[in-house]
Amino acid sequence: MGPMHSFHIHINGLVQGVGFRPFVCQLAEEMELKGCVSNANDGVHITFNATTAIAESFYASIISKPPINAIITYHHLKQLAQTENFGSFTIQQSNTDTRPDLLLTPDIAMCHQCRLDVITTHNKRYQYPFTTCLNCGPRYSIVSALPYDRAATTMANLTMCNSCNQEYQNIHDRRHFSQTNSCNNCAIQMHLYKSAKLCISDETQEIIDLVNEQLKAGKIIAVKGIGGYLLLCDATNEIAITTLRTRKQRPTKPFAVLYADIEMAVADVQLRPQEISLLKDKAAPIVLCELKPIAQNAICKQAIAPDLDKIGLLLPYTPLLWMIAEKISKPLIATSGNLSGSPIIFKDDEALSNLFDVADYVLTYDRDILMPQDDSVIQFTDRGQKIIIRRSRGLAPNYFPNPFEMHDSVALATGAELKSSFALLDKNNLFVSQYLGDQGTLESQLCYQETLNHFINLLQTKPREILIDKHPEYFVARAGKQQAKALSITPMYIQHHKAHFGAVLAENNLLHRKEPILGFIWDGAGYGDDGHIWGGEIFIYENKEMYRVAHLDYFPQLLGDKMSKEPRLSALSLLKDFPNKQYIIQKYFSNIEWQYYHQLIQQDQPLLTSSMGRFLDGIAAILGIRLYNTYEGEASMQLEALARTCAYKSYDSYSIPLVNNRLDWKPFLAELLEDWLQKEETGLIAWKVFYSLAKTIVQLSHHYFIDSLAFSGGVFQNALLVDLIIELLSHKRHLYFHQQLSANDECIGFGQMACYSLTNNYNNHYREKINEPDYKLQ
Ligand SMILES: [Zn+2]
Ligand SMILES: [Zn+2]
Repeated sequence: MGPMHSFHIHINGLVQGVGFRPFVCQLAEEMELKGCVSNANDGVHITFNATTAIAESFYASIISKPPINAIITYHHLKQLAQTENFGSFTIQQSNTDTRPDLLLTPDIAMCHQCRLDVITTHNKRYQYPFTTCLNCGPRYSIVSALPYDRAATTMANLTMCNSCNQEYQNIHDRRHFSQTNSCNNCAIQMHLYKSAKLCISDETQEIIDLVNEQLKAGKIIAVKGIGGYLLLCDATNEIAITTLRTRKQRPTKPFAVLYADIEMAVADVQLRPQEISLLKDKAAPIVLCELKPIAQNAICKQAIAPDLDKIGLLLPYTPLLWMIAEKISKPLIATSGNLSGSPIIFKDDEALSNLFDVADYVLTYDRDILMPQDDSVIQFTDRGQKIIIRRSRGLAPNYFPNPFEMHDSVALATGAELKSSFALLDKNNLFVSQYLGDQGTLESQLCYQETLNHFINLLQTKPREILIDKHPEYFVARAGKQQAKALSITPMYIQHHKAHFGAVLAENNLLHRKEPILGFIWDGAGYGDDGHIWGGEIFIYENKEMYRVAHLDYFPQLLGDKMSKEPRLSALSLLKDFPNKQYIIQKYFSNIEWQYYHQLIQQDQPLLTSSMGRFLDGIAAILGIRLYNTYEGEASMQLEALARTCAYKSYDSYSIPLVNNRLDWKPFLAELLEDWLQKEETGLIAWKVFYSLAKTIVQLSHHYFIDSLAFSGGVFQNALLVDLIIELLSHKRHLYFHQQLSANDECIGFGQMACYSLTNNYNNHYREKINEPDYKLQ
């Protein structure tokens, strides 16, 4: 045995709120080591005495099998010059001296062992709705400062009972140093309100029983979850669902359904192994799954997801939700508690003053939420490609590993307007905020600002670069400009679709690739470099430069935002040069509207759009599927659902030739109209639309002789289109889709950061270049 020395281990990454200190303690005890472990703003620090051989083996054990929810991004072992004296191995008080350099632990769904505690009659947490342990419970949503300790959470004022304290002190307990520890004796108090001023119960069992009775009676209950309030009602009661839709002013947007367990869910939906494991994942997202022809639980399919063939389902991720779902043993609607267009409500006073417009009861409890988060939404295509629809609770806010090598940067990318999410790079940690929704309302703008301020306070940081979208009207762009002004820095403008392309390249580690990559960036709308509204773009990325090489041919953009809400306007715009076919859609307009809109499309210098989203909207309206969108993407989602469920699939396609760098969609439309007039089945036409788009991608990859293709933009959330691309191309091309992020505008902040990372020491020459007019490839 060699001589004893003192050693120091520094570990960083996602190492707080995951039971790292207790894990180190236990390992030290097993190895009979003396020393201490503590949290600091740059991770976990361990000091101990050992021989060199034992120190190395202790270090190796920590690195090779850390706690299940930990992510290690940095680790280092060094021998100290002086040997210290330790009587035992202890957890020492956290050190807050330095500025934070940490990943933020997301909220973690209830673990299996905690669930067992909740259902075991003699357990002190039997039916306790806030049971947590080292491996589960709220984290990101309740943290007010770093490093992570109870005093820095919204549980700071709740004192543990003696027995909880014993668990907390016991090195062999799975709640050793568990900061969210509480039980029925030292409980977080629940309250059930019947109106803003009338609390009818504070007693757990009584509340669960009342909620159960009222749900059965068709009532709507707002229940405080992890990232905000959820609205629950009986998913088998059509009147309850319709009432919820009316009160929420949400006529058709699909609702998610909460099932007590997988067994109950399989009675209604087809579940593949990857979907089951995602439902049970620690992030516990909503997973979109295909409905069975007969839903045995008698859920009201058409009321839940009108004209769609999939529903979103989720499992209870807190003991409280589990107790409610288990008791009623029926599927429940579970949707974000908000008012139309506004962000999810997460503060108790706002819930009580606003949610009674929608809910009959409000169930709240005394643990504040600091960070609002909706539920995350994910789907798998038939071919197994994972598509993130919304990235929020459980998935946000870390982006790991950070693909950008900018060690000395503190940069803020403010993202896009409709599916907002900002990105923040600080001390080589990259954060992509949770989905922050449409910035069209004051409430959303306040929420965006509050979330951003929270980040900046938590990390005690100050951006040195601010990246913003080119759209002059965007709230996020204006907010970014203001912030830049306050910090006396010049913001950097990044075009929307270049940010999309940058995002998918960075997600696949392609930013340093020399060989060209062809990018298909198809979405609803983004402000283009030429002042028109882009959205059906084709780019080439080569030698760290991005060029727009082609686009969907322009058509008139009518009435700004109104066009995205009314697919019939897109239809009229597409039919501008088909005067003798316009009668097909004339019935969708009043006479006055018809005359007025006609004049608009005949304008001499109209604003134009190349949006693929609007193109698909227009087709949906021509086919009579959807004339108005009550939520973003509704028409194209229904077009997709029709195409997917069509029984007979033809492998004829509509033609979109490339003429002068423009994809000429007029032949496509002419052939489609011909099919329509021949009374071809709508589902088959819808199928041919997506098949033709996939064929176009194949042809363009031939035309440009490029065999690496990348895809971004909301259109690529379409599972059918993604599968068709994979079917036609995966054996001969390299295909790159988004990985951790959504293809929609939630990836824009991250993509802005990607474009910024290409600026190479923030060189001003390149800064201009990013904004340069189009490069033309002939
Ligand atoms: Zn647990
Ligand atoms: Zn207790």
